[in-house]
Amino acid sequence: MKKDFSPAELDFGPVQIYLARHFGFCYGVENAIEIAFKTIEENPGRRIFLLSEMIHNPHVNEDLLDRGVRFLQDTSGKQLVAFEELNSEDIAIIPAFGTTLEIEKKLNEIGIPTAKYNTTCPFVEKVWNRSEQIAAKQYTVVIHGKPMHEETRATFSHAASNTASVVIKDMKEAIQLAGYITGSKAPENFYEEFSGRYSKGFDVKSDLQRIGVVNQTTQLASETQAIADFLRKTIMQHYGLTGEDVEERFADTRDTLCYATNDNQTAVINLLDTIADLAIVVGGYNSSNTTHLVELCEEKLPTYFINDEEKIISNTEIVHYNYRTKMEEITSNFIPNKKPVKILLTSGASCPDALVEGVIRKLVSFFPASRSIDDLLEEMKIPD
Ligand code: SF4
Repeated sequence: MKKDFSPAELDFGPVQIYLARHFGFCYGVENAIEIAFKTIEENPGRRIFLLSEMIHNPHVNEDLLDRGVRFLQDTSGKQLVAFEELNSEDIAIIPAFGTTLEIEKKLNEIGIPTAKYNTTCPFVEKVWNRSEQIAAKQYTVVIHGKPMHEETRATFSHAASNTASVVIKDMKEAIQLAGYITGSKAPENFYEEFSGRYSKGFDVKSDLQRIGVVNQTTQLASETQAIADFLRKTIMQHYGLTGEDVEERFADTRDTLCYATNDNQTAVINLLDTIADLAIVVGGYNSSNTTHLVELCEEKLPTYFINDEEKIISNTEIVHYNYRTKMEEITSNFIPNKKPVKILLTSGASCPDALVEGVIRKLVSFFPASRSIDDLLEEMKIPD
């Protein structure tokens, strides 16, 4: 069945909120949270560590910390608890992003099993499988992702164990890489330009002659497509290949975005067909998929990236995150003085629905003449 991507309209009278058709928790996040809480419940008295943040949502992570769970690393991979402090009685939960083979090995050497408490999302594992298939056909794996993101580091580790691999962040870096494919750039510069992002022994002259592209599951779909198309075209032009024989040097890879990324982004693209005054995107500030929803919205209208309703200070002030400067900012008069005010609303894959509800309640509270949320829900109820 064709999916419906049209937004839900919540008409409170003086304020109208348009909610993206698909938003919030995805399968991988729900599964990870369920396993984490079950692990805590079933193992009283044992020390439980999370390799890093469970998912990129501060509320979920704080909840786990409150129950005594500790983080081994921060999101950038900085060690918070030394591996030497662990023993075989400890439990280490692998987060939804997965982890590197090196960390898995370290845990196994300590005697901590990694299979039982592994919440790696199957859609992340799918990317690893795809890169394995590419490697088996002797292509180099080009990973399009945020280099420091846990998922990209894990994917790089898995890919690099099978074949030459390199991480590119965006189209700018795809263009830089193309310079080494065509030979227009001096090969020796590659090692500095892509420092820390290529596999051991990477030979820029021979390892960029046959490539395949995979991506972090939460990238922006349009950018992912543009990068794959660009690198494919670069290879075709450089080697004089046609669409029929391009596979000799460019692996036929469809993108490896996950269903939640595709659905949430498509729902936002549909949401943006509605003429509105502002957009609010709810999610963790270090959440990759949420940031991409913000990017899509801000192309069209004033957009506020918040992690919960507390950031809406009043009907005139909002504290919101600027993902470019990585700082919070305050904006005054973010709600225009008109009626009705139209607000677009969505949230990222790691954001609990309760936070979205909190934002709706807060916004509606600024309009005393609004219909109550409960009345509206009653009206929207499907009859038995
Ligand atoms: S965003 Fe996608 S890949 Fe990440 S946990 Fe959710 S379903 Fe899995």
